[in-house]
Amino acid sequence: EPAASLKGYLIRGLPIIKEGDDIPTLIQSLFEIEDGDVICLASTIVAKSEGRMRHLDDYQPSSHAIEAARDLGKDPRFVQAVFEESSDILIERPFLLTVTHFGHIGVNAGIDQSNVGDEMILLLPIDPCSSAQRLRQALGRDCAVIITDTCGRPFRNGVAGVAVGWSGIAALRDWRGELDIHGRALSITQEAIADEIAAAANLLMGEAGDLTPAVVFRGLKYPRSGDDLFRAKEKDIIRSRLNR
Ligand code: GDP
Ligand code: MN
Ligand code: MN
Ligand code: MN
Repeated sequence: EPAASLKGYLIRGLPIIKEGDDIPTLIQSLFEIEDGDVICLASTIVAKSEGRMRHLDDYQPSSHAIEAARDLGKDPRFVQAVFEESSDILIERPFLLTVTHFGHIGVNAGIDQSNVGDEMILLLPIDPCSSAQRLRQALGRDCAVIITDTCGRPFRNGVAGVAVGWSGIAALRDWRGELDIHGRALSITQEAIADEIAAAANLLMGEAGDLTPAVVFRGLKYPRSGDDLFRAKEKDIIRSRLNR
């Protein structure tokens, strides 16, 4: 039996994305997608195509935002944007860790100031799983789509890619009930495969001026539907221990 292998293709040649751009058509003009492929897209380009770019002047900072911005050393308009993209603030100082309206927890609600231009900010897509579903349907293949973002991590140095939206693939692979090498059934393990794939995609994309926001993985066997990545508030011990 041949060794299992996974290939990752970094798609080159995508333009600077603007609102309304048809990302599936652009990708299909550069790469032939096959059934079973996993297409990873940087949230940056999905957000740009969905018109999620904002000017800082679009925001009227509240007194709360002005006060927090002073301590954070940030522009109060930026802090206001973070507040508006958040349903809960978990940490306010010395940085903003918040819960987005779609359930992702990230610094600054995932609002990005890289690769967007002066005085501009880029919000995450409103509902990245819906975006992933729409993009997958438009690609017209039995494939999966993962929308990635580069995030910092608690307890560990360095940023890594995570999945903020996915479609056509289970976010988690359930190992419960599988036998280990000694015949003991696993009782807890759910593997965050969408995050693992997103991290590998992020590794190929780069963070700066590479202009390579799309990666296709071929050769992966993956479950098509399954559980969520965002832990429910009531089940999140670490979240409950955070004091403002
Ligand atoms: P994020 O991780 O989703 O925040 O995205 P990044 O800002 O880190 O960008 C990831 C990759 O996408 C890098 O290679 C960027 O150069 C590239 N990128 C960002 N915006 C665009 C764009 O509009 N067009 C193209 N072709 N590449 C972009
Ligand atoms: Mn960025
Ligand atoms: Mn980002
Ligand atoms: Mn990135």
